Amino acid sequence: MKLDMHVHCQPISACASITPEELVVHYKNHGFDGLVLTNHVNFWNVEGHTGLPSDFDEQRKMYIETYERAKAAGEKIGFTVIFGVELRLNQPENGFEYLLYGVDYDAFAEMYPGIYWSQEQLWEFCQRHDIFVSQAHPMRYNDGKDAPNRRLLNAMEVYNPGPDDTSEVPMTGERAKKLAEESGLAFTAGSDLHHLRNRPQCGIITETDVHNQFELRDVLKSRKYKVFYE
Ligand SMILES: [Zn+2]
Ligand SMILES: [Zn+2]
Repeated sequence: MKLDMHVHCQPISACASITPEELVVHYKNHGFDGLVLTNHVNFWNVEGHTGLPSDFDEQRKMYIETYERAKAAGEKIGFTVIFGVELRLNQPENGFEYLLYGVDYDAFAEMYPGIYWSQEQLWEFCQRHDIFVSQAHPMRYNDGKDAPNRRLLNAMEVYNPGPDDTSEVPMTGERAKKLAEESGLAFTAGSDLHHLRNRPQCGIITETDVHNQFELRDVLKSRKYKVFYE
């Protein structure tokens, strides 16, 4: 099963312009079987700089509604949409971002907004709820030299083209794989797609089909998948 592990859409990711309905058709047309919707939970959204409701419960409901819109649109065309989260911690300043796989709605409510946590708090939460953590786009931080504590991660996102520039992905991907291997971490890969003009181009191929975030987490833990960039 061919899955993109890092994807954004409107309206909850204000930096994205693609709608949930456009998203699933775009990916289906590019030959993907599914995607993990990892919309942003970050300082800008949470603290009201992007026009989201100021109430955290309202924000969280909007986050889930965005996901359910994409899931419903996917179901109409036989395309799988899996719930995920991209969380940006505020600490340290200019904080790192983490992709969370295996989050259920109750855990999400317990976490939300989560941006004020330390990496240790996030890790403790993820251990307690059996959530798989991959550091998003590690090479964007001083080419991987600036890093969170790699002992508090399950994986690193080795391929991530970012919203626009894709030229260095193969090269930075090899360096990221080396860093991940040195720390005994698994690999993930995702396009970080935000717009219809972006080409879906990264992800994983699983041996068995996954239908939800829990099955996905189990596959990630088993390491029975391959990352790809195309
Ligand atoms: Zn974004
Ligand atoms: Zn992202």
